[in-house]
Amino acid sequence: MKAWILRSFKKGIITSKFPKGKNESASPWSTLPIYTKGRQDPYCPVDAIAEGRVDANRCISCGLCYPEYEPSTDIHGSVSSVSVKALKKSIRLYQIDVGTCGACNVEIMTIASPQYDIARLGISFTNTPRQADALLVSGILTENMREPLKRAYEAMAEPRIVFAVGACAISGSLLGKAVSEALRVDVTVPGCPPDPFTIIDAVQKARGFK
Ligand code: SF4
Ligand code: SF4
Repeated sequence: MKAWILRSFKKGIITSKFPKGKNESASPWSTLPIYTKGRQDPYCPVDAIAEGRVDANRCISCGLCYPEYEPSTDIHGSVSSVSVKALKKSIRLYQIDVGTCGACNVEIMTIASPQYDIARLGISFTNTPRQADALLVSGILTENMREPLKRAYEAMAEPRIVFAVGACAISGSLLGKAVSEALRVDVTVPGCPPDPFTIIDAVQKARGFK
């Protein structure tokens, strides 16, 4: 107990100041295995490479094109078609997994950790769609989750913003369908999985902060 308290004093405040303070950036790809070093014509299983760029809305981070290509580590890559200023004071998020590998869920959960501490920005999670302002959908749209997804959406009150979190939810990836085949998607959050900063940045955009 004593050691734990001393350690926390030593570390000090670890919470990021994002979106204020110095620019934060997502982790680079430096730890990925090099499958195709020197290969001239990288094969991409999801056709995410076009015009010399990696489309983060499709890329599933398989690493087959590395090091010729690397996905962007820009944490501002999300796109929001909404700007709900009424949610500037607070927003409640409900997350639903419709077919993930699990990694998107971990990154979503991470935004509530002390390092990111979304509570300081007025963002919180709820475990019922009835209290939610926004639906965070992760994973490919699997048939068995189509109905639960629809029911969660219908249980919400307006403005019920829908986020497609991760390349699977946005594009359907290798195996499935995109979330947009079941619901109107308001915000796309690229990455596989998206960086926590990218998720927070997307939520802030939907609240009209950008
Ligand atoms: S890492 Fe992404 S862009 Fe590269 S081959 Fe895999 S899916 Fe395609
Ligand atoms: S986008 Fe998310 S769910 Fe899909 S493969 Fe990547 S981490 Fe897994």
